[in-house]
Amino acid sequence: MKPAPFAYHRPTSLDEALALLARYGPDGRVLAGGQSLMPALNMRLATPAALIDINRVPGLDGIAVEGDALVIGALARHDALEHSALVARHAPLIAQAMPHVGHRAIRARGTLGGSVALADPAAELPACLLALDAVVHAAGPEGAREIPAARFFRGIYTTALREEEIVTAVAVPMARAGWRSRFDELARRHGDCALVGLAAHCRMDDGIVREARLAFCGVGSVPMRAARAEAALVGRSVEPDRPAEAARALASDLDPPGDVHPSPALRRHLAGVLLTRSLGAL
Ligand SMILES: Cc1cc2nc3c(=O)[nH]c(=O)nc-3n(C[C@H](O)[C@H](O)[C@H](O)COP(=O)(O)OP(=O)(O)OC[C@H]3O[C@@H](n4cnc5c(N)ncnc54)[C@H](O)[C@@H]3O)c2cc1C
Repeated sequence: MKPAPFAYHRPTSLDEALALLARYGPDGRVLAGGQSLMPALNMRLATPAALIDINRVPGLDGIAVEGDALVIGALARHDALEHSALVARHAPLIAQAMPHVGHRAIRARGTLGGSVALADPAAELPACLLALDAVVHAAGPEGAREIPAARFFRGIYTTALREEEIVTAVAVPMARAGWRSRFDELARRHGDCALVGLAAHCRMDDGIVREARLAFCGVGSVPMRAARAEAALVGRSVEPDRPAEAARALASDLDPPGDVHPSPALRRHLAGVLLTRSLGAL
């Protein structure tokens, strides 16, 4: 199948891109890496009147330290995140998650901003951003605004982004001393969407967990923190037999949907397996 006809615009500045988005309103769509949008167009699941290709907008693909945050541009490709020395050093959770995103060809085109704006509930990056307490930067006709990841993801493919806004960057607080990260997921085959994924970010002291941030993907309509499991971990060691209580607490933290994939009970079980495995590797 081929896409329905659409106008194609390739703005060379953010202002121009925003003006085009305002002009087309709900009939305009931003095109970034195209790895999700192009299949949707080809299957006619999306039939926008115009595509606004932001790939020539300068200044959106940087990765830089600004103050105490690592600021990653919306157009940074997944493989740039996978191989960036700055990401490895200051946001290792993201570097660990990237090899799980699709396949190499997809990572060569797919972008951080695209993944964030799409808000696929099984996607790895949104869970990482939630675990890391990152902040999404957006630009719109009324200027720029910042939206914490905890308030950005609203539902399946639904975010706090307004129709006329573009994600410009994400600011990730830099990893501080004592914090350890681990991303892991279970999928049918490597490169498939996660059945369940876990972004774990914990402050450790002599083998004891002092603070825990656990964000799961694939267990609901949005990436979810597991508050009871986090509380069950604090003050405990992560020796292999210890996280059992936290894994049990997941039963009340997570309420996975029943769909054509694994049952809610199996997803909850897989989440517990991931938790035990990830904590052992912190
Ligand atoms: C076979 C296959 C396997 C995949 N596996 C995974 C996987 O395991 N995990 C995973 O997370 N993803 C996976 N993906 C999706 C991939 O990571 C996409 O790249 C990503 O979801 C979207 O990024 P993109 O840059 O390609 O966005 P696009 O496809 O260009 O856009 C996606 C949506 O976001 C909007 N958008 C894009 N950029 C912006 C912006 N800056 N501001 C506002 N709106 C914007 C677009 O309008 C569109 O609605 C897979 C894709 C394929 C084809």
